Amino acid sequence: MINLTAVSKVYGYGDSAVQALHPTDLQVKRGEIFGVIGASGAGKSTLIRCVNLLERPTTGSVVIDGVDLATQSERDLTLSRRKIGMIFQHFNLLSSRTVAENIALPLELAGLDKARIAQRVTELLVLVGLQERAHAYPSELSGGQKQRVAIARALAPEPKVLLCDEATSALDPQTTQSILALLKEINRRLGLTILLITHEMDVVKTICDKVAIIHDGRLVEQGEVAWFFSHA
Ligand code: ADP
Ligand code: ADP
Repeated sequence: MINLTAVSKVYGYGDSAVQALHPTDLQVKRGEIFGVIGASGAGKSTLIRCVNLLERPTTGSVVIDGVDLATQSERDLTLSRRKIGMIFQHFNLLSSRTVAENIALPLELAGLDKARIAQRVTELLVLVGLQERAHAYPSELSGGQKQRVAIARALAPEPKVLLCDEATSALDPQTTQSILALLKEINRRLGLTILLITHEMDVVKTICDKVAIIHDGRLVEQGEVAWFFSHA
């Protein structure tokens, strides 16, 4: 479902150039939850942002569900990105929009009609357990509730892949567990493929099927989570 081949990223030019990611191969199969773990500055954000072309890779190909995004024009990318949802550490909700309006945003951008949007928003609110909060504003929500809204918004266009950028790093341990349980349930029910980055081993242990360790811009080891923890 996600196939990176020789993807690398250099920021800047000349003397100030930083090789944030050395040529990297990564395969994530359909329905898998794949975690990339590493310390701050290891290249996790760069890697995950190359998957949806928020960063243009310096080299390599990024194939999502059979389509090579790295060679697409911005216009085609806009369409391809509907296959890829993303959630962030700091949620990135629009503060001037209610919960329901935040979730509706990608559907409005995709040009769905009002009735269809309302129906889909209701389904998504049920999925993430926020029916009661549809008309609240983000400032009235807890961190866990905000991340539930962000998950619903990411799932609105029915993506094939969900990218999670330190999605639980701003949450307390109990809330982290409830968000991870929600992601696992979504993975099971919808067959959604999930790629996440984290600096927390617990996140990997709790929900990932496979894990890769990233260090200084290189994937230094990868394998099944069960194997990792039986040989650690
Ligand atoms: P992580 O997400 O693991 O903390 P990043 O991918 O953010 O790592 O960063 C990897 C390396 O690339 C770091 O050395 C960082 O300073 C550098 N870097 C990240 N973003 C930029 C940027 N926009 N411009 C220059 N250097 C960057
Ligand atoms: P960090 O991981 O550094 O705490 P975030 O995970 O919140 O920050 O955001 C990562 C990056 O993604 C930021 O540079 C931000 O500008 C960008 N970003 C945030 N929201 C969106 C979005 N909806 N679409 C595209 N890029 C975004």
